[in-house]
Amino acid sequence: MTDFTAERERMVARQIAARGITDPRILEAFRKVPREAFVADDYRAAAYEDSPQPIEAEQTISQPYIVALMIEAAELDPADRVLEIGCGSGYASAILAELVDEVIAIERHEALARLAGRRLEELGYENVSVYEGDGSRGFAEQGPFDAIIVSAAGSHVPDPLLAQLEIGGRLVMPVGEPQQVQKLVKITRIDEEDYEQEEMGAVRFVPLIGAHGWTETGERAD
Ligand code: SAM
Repeated sequence: MTDFTAERERMVARQIAARGITDPRILEAFRKVPREAFVADDYRAAAYEDSPQPIEAEQTISQPYIVALMIEAAELDPADRVLEIGCGSGYASAILAELVDEVIAIERHEALARLAGRRLEELGYENVSVYEGDGSRGFAEQGPFDAIIVSAAGSHVPDPLLAQLEIGGRLVMPVGEPQQVQKLVKITRIDEEDYEQEEMGAVRFVPLIGAHGWTETGERAD
C-alpha cells in the first residue's frame, strides 16, 4: 500500500499550521490519522488535497483545515467526552479520538455509520462508538457532553443539543441554508440558563437533515 506520510506532513504544515492552528496536540493528531483510510479507493490519491472530497452516500469528508478549526474552537481537554454529529467517513472522529477520552459519533446514513465504525475499529480506536440515527436530536441517554461538534449545517442550533451540553461545554456547528455559504458558530454554556455565542466565519457544509434541522427537500424541520 502507498505510504502517505509525506503527504500527511505537508497537509499539516501547509493547510493547518500555516493557517494558524498551533496546538501541538491537534497537529500531532493530524500527523497520525491516515486520512487515505477514510475515503474510497478511487479517492486515495486525492485524500490530502486542500478541499472536501466525495465519500459514499453522496456525502463529503470535510476539508482538513475546517476539521482542525472546529476542533480547536471546541477547546478540548484530554478527559473530555465529545459528541460528533455527522460522522460521515469517520475521519474527524478518529482525530477526536486522538485528543479526548471518549467520542460518541452519530451518522444518519446506515451504510456510512457501518463503514466508519469498521474503519475506526480496524485502526484500533477503542474510545469511539458510532451510532446510526438523527443527530439533530443529540444523544440524551449518553449526555451531557463536554463538547459537541456538528459536521453538517443546521437551520439553527437545535435545543436538544444545547440541553445536552455540560456547564462550561462548547458546541461548534455550521448554521445556514443548504447549498449556500453558512456561518460557523461556537456556543459555550455559561450556566444552567445562559449560553454565549460567537461567530467564526464562513463555511460550506452538507445539510443537517433531521427533526431539528432541514427536511430532505430543504425546508426547516421545526
Ligand atoms: N465529519 C465527517 C468526516 O470526517 O468525514 C464529515 C461529514 S459530512 C461533511 C456530514 C455528514 O453529516 C454526512 O455524512 C451526513 O450524512 C451527516 N448528517 C446529516 N444530517 C445528519 C443527522 N441529522 N444526523 C447524523 N448525521 C447527519
